[in-house]
This record gives sequence, C-alpha cells and structure tokens, in this order.
Amino acid sequence: MFGRYKRLWSSPPQRPAYDAVIIGGGLHGLSTAYFLASRHGIRDVAVIEKRYMGFGGSGRNTAIVRANQRTPENLPLYKEALELWPVLTEELDFNLMFYNCGNLNLAHSEAALKAMRLQVASAQFHGIDIRMVGPKECKELVPILDISNRLRYPIFGGMFHPAGGILRHDAVVWGMARGASKLGVHIHQGTEVTGIGVQNGRVVHVDTDKGRIQTRRVLNAAGGYSADIAFRMLGMKLPISVLTIQAMVTQPLKPILHHVVSSGMYHCYANQTLKGEIATGAHMDPWPTYTTGTTARYIKHQAEALGELMPCLRGVKFMRSWSGLADMTPDMAPIMDGNEPVRGYYMDCGWGYFGFKSSCVTGKYMAQYMATEECPQILKPFALKRFEEHRLMGETAALVEYSPDN
Ligand SMILES: Cc1cc2nc3c(=O)[nH]c(=O)nc-3n(C[C@H](O)[C@H](O)[C@H](O)COP(=O)(O)OP(=O)(O)OC[C@H]3O[C@@H](n4cnc5c(N)ncnc54)[C@H](O)[C@@H]3O)c2cc1C
Repeated sequence: MFGRYKRLWSSPPQRPAYDAVIIGGGLHGLSTAYFLASRHGIRDVAVIEKRYMGFGGSGRNTAIVRANQRTPENLPLYKEALELWPVLTEELDFNLMFYNCGNLNLAHSEAALKAMRLQVASAQFHGIDIRMVGPKECKELVPILDISNRLRYPIFGGMFHPAGGILRHDAVVWGMARGASKLGVHIHQGTEVTGIGVQNGRVVHVDTDKGRIQTRRVLNAAGGYSADIAFRMLGMKLPISVLTIQAMVTQPLKPILHHVVSSGMYHCYANQTLKGEIATGAHMDPWPTYTTGTTARYIKHQAEALGELMPCLRGVKFMRSWSGLADMTPDMAPIMDGNEPVRGYYMDCGWGYFGFKSSCVTGKYMAQYMATEECPQILKPFALKRFEEHRLMGETAALVEYSPDN
C-alpha cells in the first residue's frame, strides 16, 4: 500500500537473468510483455524503463484510435487493434475509457476528396466501417464547424469513421502495466539499459545502470530512443528521424464536440475530452530534436486553425501544452523485425504519430514472434529490409497528403 492507495504494480528487485528483456516502458513494450505472459506463458520477463511507465509518447499522446489507414499492409493491423481495445478493457479488468465517438477527416479540395475516396474504398474492402460524407453531413456531425465559403480552405466533404474514437492514454499504460505485473512480469522503473551483449551472433545479456541481466531475447521498444539504442549498442543504423509533436488542451467547456475532427489542410485535429477540454494537436516541428518543449509558433497556429474551422472556439483559453518524440521512418510505417542481424534481438519502433492506436495488437504479434521465433505473416511487410529493397509503403498518404505544408 502507498498511503491509502494500492500500488498498481509491484517493483521486485532486478534478477540477474530473465527469459526476455524489454527496453522501454511505453505501450509497445508493455503490451508485448503482457501478451508474452498471458498468451505464451513466458512470465520471466523484465520491462526496463529509464524514467517511469508512460514517460515517452505513450503518456503524451492525444489518444486517438482509428483504423482508416491507407495501405493493405497497415489496414488489417489497425482494424484488429480497434477491435481489441474493448476486449482488453474486460480482460485487464481496467477501464481504458474507450469512447468510440467516431473520426471525421475533412477534405478541402476536389483533389483531396478524390484521394479520400481511394482511402475509403481500401478501408471498406478490409471491412472497416467508414464512408464519404458531404459538407452538409459534416455540419450535422459537428454543428460548430464552419462550412461556409469564408474559410481560407472551404470544406468540400470528408470521410467519417464511426468506429474510431479515443482512449485514455494513462489508463492504457497503467492497465497494461498492472496486467503484466499480475502475471509475474517485473517492471523496473528508473533503470536505464546501457548495452546489449552479443556472442557468436546471439544476444546473451543486457547491461543496465543497476547491473547485468543474462537473457537470450531482447526487444527494443524505446520509441524516440530506439534508433540511438540500435546504433550505440549494436552498430545498426535505422532509417529513423526523431521529431517533436506538440499538443495542447483548452479550458473545459460544456459538451460541444462529439467526434474527433481532423484537417490535413489546416494541420490540426481536435476532440473534446471527457473532462470537457478540447484536446488538439498535429503540429510536428520539421527539424530533428530530442526536446519536449512547445513553441509560440505552434500555439498561434493551433489557435488560428481551430478558430477558423470552429469559430465558437475563438477566445477559448489554452490551459496546457506539451510535446513528445516521434520516431519517424521515411514511409511513416513502423519497423517490426527480429533476429537480424543478431539472433534474439527484436525491434518494434518507428511508430511516429500512429503508435498509440496500434500498440495492443503489435504487442500481441511481437510477443508471438519472440515466443516462437517465427515472424507472424501480418508483421512480415514491416521488416527493416524493405528500405534496402525500396519497398516503401506510402502510409504517409494516410494523413498528411492534403496539407499545404507537405
Ligand atoms: C503529442 C503526441 C500526440 C500523439 N497522438 C497520437 C494519437 O492520437 N494516436 C496515436 O496512435 N499515436 C499518437 N502519438 C504517437 C504515440 O504516442 C507513439 O507512437 C507511441 O506512444 C509510441 O509508443 P512506444 O511504446 O513505441 O514508445 P514510448 O511510449 O516513447 O516508450 C519508449 C520508452 O522507452 C524508454 N527508454 C528510452 N531509452 C531507454 C533506455 N536506454 N533504457 C530504458 N528505457 C528507455 C523511454 O523513457 C520511454 O518511456 C502521439 C505522440 C505525441 C508525442
């Protein structure tokens, strides 16, 4: 017990050996640990986190979940994730606060509508609930939207994805950490991985600032730090740039926004949290950086974009702003790979700004990969070698194609 509160997970002493070591207490690491223990009976697992659970993107995101990706490789993964969140809420016996309020993506030109039609057709082909909507229906869905011609970029229509929505990011981190810990996984916060030992082409240990751990399986799920870990510890170069994404919330308001609204052209998305705040984001500083501050330029941009799209928000105050690291690959799709170039070394990184929504299902498949040493079919297209073979995925088009900045 901690004061009156029961701790969500235990913190046992670090053992000298584990069956598997996971670098990073973000959602990709935690969910892999949870599925290793719950589906494969591999419970002798350590999650090593240099700060605290959810310190990285997992505790800083705007918690939007949706399956309206673009490519046939990505769509099934995100669809399964969307279906898995409610199941996990039951299974973990923890309220993940899934609110499937639906996502409305706006189009501001004929060209954007045309691209959206393609995206909707691909998603529908994969059984995802999504449809095109005209400006009038956009207004019915979000009455505070300005659909007049006064806008710099008038609204031509959009795509509506009713099954998407938001979760509560802290709840997901805590629920997943508690679930893993209950099954015997060791969670070590305030512990940094400093090296990965390799002998005869195989992982044999992991060094931490609290001592060495013998292990034959390690997962690099260190988010914005994963490329640095791969390079410093194994000499591997990953095609990942680290950029900063910023987000903010307004003062709480009465319920006025019942869906997630996104506009690539205005470079902005917004939804109303259960506390009444308008949570908004999308801005990504275009230069590589590891800082997690916010900029005046972004705050001004966001105020202008929101005020133009939803004029009743003019004058509403921003209460907090923050940012986090995004590990971006050239095709905006992740790297999920294993046993290359070292046996027993696995990677789940390069998630950019898509990695919250997918984390449950990725954990499920990465756990299967680590337990069986066989790459599940669904993960095969995400191997690192796609960059060498020039088989990039074009997932960039899922979000930013319609923006004037891109
Ligand atoms: C502002 C913002 C908004 C976003 N909005 C969304 C959204 O709405 N929907 C969505 O799907 N995604 C969103 N994302 C992206 C999403 O948050 C990330 O893709 C996801 O959280 C990545 O999870 P992860 O587990 O890979 O990494 P992280 O959560 O970053 O976890 C990695 C962890 O590794 C730890 N670590 C690093 N180095 C070491 C080391 N040497 N030893 C031990 N530990 C180490 C870090 O401290 C960190 O806690 C957003 C991101 C941000 C920043």
